[in-house]
Amino acid sequence: MTQAADSLFTGPSDLHLHSNHSDGTETPAEVVRQAHAHGIRTLALTDHDRTTGWDEAGDEAVRLGMTFLPGIELSAKHEWRSVHVLGYLFDPENPALLAETDRIRFDRVGRAERIVRNISRDYTLDWLDVLAQTTPDATVGRPHIADALVARGIVRDRTEAFDGILHPRTGYYEPHYAPDPLTAVRLITRAGGVAIIAHPVTSGRDRMMPVPFLERLIDEGLAGFEIDHRENTVAGKRLLRELAAEHDLIVTGSSDYHGAGKPNRPGENTTSDEMVARIIDRATGTAPRRG
Ligand code: AMP
Ligand code: FE
Ligand code: FE
Ligand code: ZN
Repeated sequence: MTQAADSLFTGPSDLHLHSNHSDGTETPAEVVRQAHAHGIRTLALTDHDRTTGWDEAGDEAVRLGMTFLPGIELSAKHEWRSVHVLGYLFDPENPALLAETDRIRFDRVGRAERIVRNISRDYTLDWLDVLAQTTPDATVGRPHIADALVARGIVRDRTEAFDGILHPRTGYYEPHYAPDPLTAVRLITRAGGVAIIAHPVTSGRDRMMPVPFLERLIDEGLAGFEIDHRENTVAGKRLLRELAAEHDLIVTGSSDYHGAGKPNRPGENTTSDEMVARIIDRATGTAPRRG
């Protein structure tokens, strides 16, 4: 760890949390307060495809004497897999990255409308139900449709919605536009950020990208993997740790907190001080904020 980075923050660190600027249920300031209450002292806000929560979250973190790393979880796609790329400390005004996040968010709206139209063939649900569950301008996703299904009394919670009506195999699912992971990594890296694959080894449909493709991402500037995440498989974590060691990559652990939208709690997984320092050292796009 370098002296400069060492003096910038103190752990415990949770580098993956969502607010209601995407599919979390709390405001950015509330997310920061929750993280603090769970013992976290360094956090990153990583809303899907959006950076509008940074100022509010950063202000609250500074007020509480915490360190704030601006971040994003960028939607990407490899073959049939949904791939999420975490980006940290990039320039939020980078034109290429802004154009891509605008495109993804715009397409997500039409896609959510299509999913609702499909569901409405069998259930009483319309687009206004979804809008009622969505903060204006939030990145719209299936979680908001899940909340609308809950409000209608069709399912009990988001988990039941994802296991049933919103699952791709059920037939209501529609895809949305997303760049391929090489593009996503390149966009974040060229904006001065640090790109880390979120939950890279979950089970099921989105399971791990092939190792040769991961190595292409590393060649493209990928900085690391989020290994300690509740949805990564045990065998997958082992494999990724080996790959990370082989390529001297950053490894992180985080909660993927979504407020009441998921059972994940802040700090259930954390990132070591050494790895946070490496992220800060590597980034050139924007600086962390410290209280
Ligand atoms: P989308 O990007 O619109 O396809 O929706 C995927 C998002 O839904 C992910 O970012 C997750 O945060 C969320 N999600 C996935 N599975 C669940 C679940 N079982 N319960 C709550 N949220 C979920
Ligand atoms: Fe999410
Ligand atoms: Fe994700
Ligand atoms: Zn996430």
